[in-house]
Amino acid sequence: MDYKTHILHTGKDRDPYTNAASIPIYQVSTFAQDDPVEFGPYEYGRSTNPTRDALEHTIALLERGARGYAFASGMAAISSVFLLFKPGDHIVVAEDVYGGTYRVLTTIFQRWGLKHTFVDMTYPEKIESAILPETKAIFAETPSNPLLKITDLAAVAGIAKKKGVLAIIDNTFMSPYLQRPIEFGFDIVVHSATKFLGGHSDLIAGLAVTKDVQVGQQIKSIQVHFGAILGPQDSWLILRGIKTLSARMDAQQKNAQFIAEWLSTQPAVKRVYYPGLASHPGRDIHLRQASGGGAVVSFELENGDAAKNVLSRITLPLMAVSLGGVESILSYPATMSHAAMPPSERAARGITDGLVRLSVGLEAPEDLCEDLRQAMEAKE
Ligand SMILES: *Cc1c(COP(=O)(O)O)cnc(C)c1O
Repeated sequence: MDYKTHILHTGKDRDPYTNAASIPIYQVSTFAQDDPVEFGPYEYGRSTNPTRDALEHTIALLERGARGYAFASGMAAISSVFLLFKPGDHIVVAEDVYGGTYRVLTTIFQRWGLKHTFVDMTYPEKIESAILPETKAIFAETPSNPLLKITDLAAVAGIAKKKGVLAIIDNTFMSPYLQRPIEFGFDIVVHSATKFLGGHSDLIAGLAVTKDVQVGQQIKSIQVHFGAILGPQDSWLILRGIKTLSARMDAQQKNAQFIAEWLSTQPAVKRVYYPGLASHPGRDIHLRQASGGGAVVSFELENGDAAKNVLSRITLPLMAVSLGGVESILSYPATMSHAAMPPSERAARGITDGLVRLSVGLEAPEDLCEDLRQAMEAKE
């Protein structure tokens, strides 16, 4: 079966009780039991909910995993996965990991005793040399944010296997439609479903998928006890978003390719970062493990003033944090996603003041280029 067909026919795409074409929103906290000892499949909404179940089943299937779990946000999913570890444990983390992941590791989890080392994962050998006796996991993200740096999934999973640690990845930028890390040996995949899976900039949600049932059961127990679950309304919205995932990703990716190529010809643009460009470092690795460059393009303007000028003059994209919606979103990593990173660290990672990130939506790409052109040409 083609993956596009698979997305719509997951085995939990109809309500088992009524055959309704959409799983209803089971807005409920508790379920009456027929027997005081032998409980039915549902007992209390924090543990299980039929709408959330359908989403968890769907994401596990789409990521080719054994189990899926839905959380209140991407950060709730990521933090719940970090709760698999204990004080004294160590994890190796991609240096240009999502800003929120950086923040939670360097503040809350650091205080709590979970140690970390950031490494540039475009060099697999650096991962291997960062592994300590107490290392329990490698946490990757590819393409990375906001420079779209590429990490070799098979190489990372190979190192994790050899060293007996878990391979975890944040797959938000690609979605399972474009990239399925479990097929390359990853153990856990996390998502901010707020982005491409939801797709409409109308909710906050997170997902975690495990390759094995056993790791899945550990995450399930964290989900139930820690309780950062996704509610039934938002579970339903993500299920609805997923139904159009292939159509949205195909169209948004095509637009992103068009815009990245156009930006490459613009004199005001110093550099374009997009894995679909022939010049992009790691492009061959990326195209081996993903079906296309995705829908996020970053580009560098002369300096911070030039970037701010474009951000304030743009009319079509929202100037906002976030990405993955049907409308284009232009963001400024220096003050938005990466504001928590000290300027020196940011500079060392190539996130300059001239860098802007465009999440490409469904607008006609010619209109977006025209809007960018007028914003770049306008002078103070
Ligand atoms: C947005 C995002 C997150 C955090 O997700 P929330 O839903 O905002 O909590 C994590 N990783 C990546 C790559 C993201 O883009």
